[in-house]
This record gives sequence, C-alpha cells and structure tokens, in this order.
Amino acid sequence: MRSKVSIIGAGNVGATLAQRIAEKGYADVVMVDIIEGLPQGKALDILQAGSITGSDARVIGTNSYKETAGSDIVVITSGVTRKPGMHRSDMVLVNMNIVKPVTEQVVKYSPKGIIIMVANPLDAMTQLVLHVSKFPRNRVLGQSGVLDTSRFRALLARELNVSVEDVHACVLGGHGDIMMPVPRLTTVGGVPVTELLPKETVNKIVERTVKGGSEIVALLKTGSAFYAPAAATAQMVESILLDKKRILPCAAYLEGEYGIKGAVVGVPVKLGKDGIEQIIELKLTPEESAALKKSAEAVKELVRIMKLK
Ligand code: NAD
Repeated sequence: MRSKVSIIGAGNVGATLAQRIAEKGYADVVMVDIIEGLPQGKALDILQAGSITGSDARVIGTNSYKETAGSDIVVITSGVTRKPGMHRSDMVLVNMNIVKPVTEQVVKYSPKGIIIMVANPLDAMTQLVLHVSKFPRNRVLGQSGVLDTSRFRALLARELNVSVEDVHACVLGGHGDIMMPVPRLTTVGGVPVTELLPKETVNKIVERTVKGGSEIVALLKTGSAFYAPAAATAQMVESILLDKKRILPCAAYLEGEYGIKGAVVGVPVKLGKDGIEQIIELKLTPEESAALKKSAEAVKELVRIMKLK
C-alpha cells in the first residue's frame, strides 16, 4: 500500500513538492489550498504526467481537509512569502494566523501523522505547530537545514570544482540570517574545507549561504525560492516514508540538547518512520556553542511575539 502525504498550500513550494513526491510513486498526494480550483487544477496536471513519469500515485487537490484523513506525513507550506527587504520576524504574526487553524485541521484528520513545517519564520512556526498539535516532539519538525546545507554545498562545490555529492556541510541554528554554517565540520572528500580554502573565501561563501534566501527574493521580485526548498522537503519526506534513518539537519525542539531548552533550532537528526528518532549532538567549540545559543535566543524572541498560551 502506498503511503499518504498531504501538503497544505498548493503554491510554489507546495506544488513543486507534490510533483517531486508524486514522481517517486511511493506516496499518494493530497494538496489543500484556500483558493478554489488551484489545488484541483495543479493536482490534475501532476496526475496526468504519471503515465510519462511512470508513477501510479494518486494526486488529489481539494479545499477541504477531509481528503487528508489518515496522512502519514503532512507538510505545511501555507503562508505568505517574504517581500524584498522584509525580515522573517515581520511575518510571524501574519503566518501564525494562517498556520494555527491549519494545524488544528491537520491534527483533527491525521492525529497520528508527522508534521513537517515549511512556512516561515520556520523555527517559530514549527514551535507553534508543536504547541497547537500537542504532538510529541519526534512528530513535529521543520525544513531548514537541508536547504541551507544544500546551498552551502553548491557554493563550495562550484568554488572547488568538485561534485556536490562529495561536499558534506554542517549548518546549525535557526533558519534565515540567524543560521550558523560550521566550516570546521564541513568536509570535501573527508577533508575540512578550512584546510582547502583560504579563510576569506570560506567566509564569503558562508555569508552568501546565510543570505541565500534573500538573494533569490531580490532577483525574483515577487515570491521566494521554491525549487531547492521543495527538493529539501522531499528528501525529508523520503527519509521518513522509507525509514531510511538519514542524518539530516532539521528544525527540532530541544529539551536540553546543546545546552538549549524550550526552543526549535536546526540540528542534525536521525529521520526514520517515527520522525525524529534521535537528535545528534555534535561536539562544538565554546565559540560555536555560544553562537548556537545566540541563534536559539533569536528564535525564542520570535516565539515570544506569538504569546503562545
Ligand atoms: P506561495 O505564495 O506560492 O504559496 C502559498 C500558498 O498557501 C498559496 O497558494 C496560498 O493560497 C496558500 N494558503 C494561504 N493560506 C492558506 C490556508 N489558510 N490554508 C491553505 N492554504 C493557504 O508561497 P511559497 O513560495 O509556496 O512559500 C510558502 C511558505 O514557505 C512561505 O511562508 C515561505 O516563506 C516559506 N518558505 C520556506 C522555506 C524554508 O526553507 N523553510 C523555503 C521557501 C519558502
């Protein structure tokens, strides 16, 4: 039997993700949006590609949550995107008012599902979902680190003229300008990049990684990145559905790990059929540890704006 993945928000990220999952063929996909016709039209379009891509996955678009019932995974992409110059903190209340009622519906119809948050500000929205759903922390996580490391890896691979597959990057912390690439733990063929590139070059690449989302927002003028974000989310979905137990950087609620308590922050986790099966604690230097705690404080500040009760 195929698994079932529901995607809330059939916009750029949601629909691209639906296409990626449907093409793999291991899950039926339900897309929900508030705009009438949009999820239905996009779902039909993706479904009709199945005979070409060789996928028998069912793809449904709807404006109601009934069809999402019993989903193994629900991905929440419903939310506004950043406008040029807009900070993620400006979005927190706007997207909170979208994500809260969405989460209530998701929980009603898929009480045993795993929720992957995508809407921004990512860490705060993930914490909101955890709060509203009352799910255990292994079943609520956010997509940030897979995208951020992918951007870091792509830039490093270009600089070193090597395959992206041989670049393994470490990015910790909150999503956005509070993210924390860790060059010391970023390797190319097993060698730390700090030994392969001059410090200034590494710093430039780190800075471009941190501003990766804003760079695309500025180019697009309307909307934000979605191809790489959808690919990143699809990788997380696959690791859970196929119980691959991949070690991927994800936004997870920490309860003392890394000396951080009560905040959602990006850390490496083991992703399998139960969602977050383990939080991996890397040995950090005192400076790295302090920077991660600072990043967690920035997330807590955003969460405070929501006044969660
Ligand atoms: P988009 O505008 O293309 O799509 C958003 C969709 O959500 C729209 O179709 C809209 O109608 C729908 N929607 C709004 N309110 C809804 C509701 N209550 N119920 C159901 N659907 C609703 O935006 P996008 O590019 O797909 O981005 C979506 C979100 O993901 C944004 O918040 C964006 O900032 C975020 N994002 C996060 C990452 C990440 O790395 N975590 C990457 C890219 C985008």
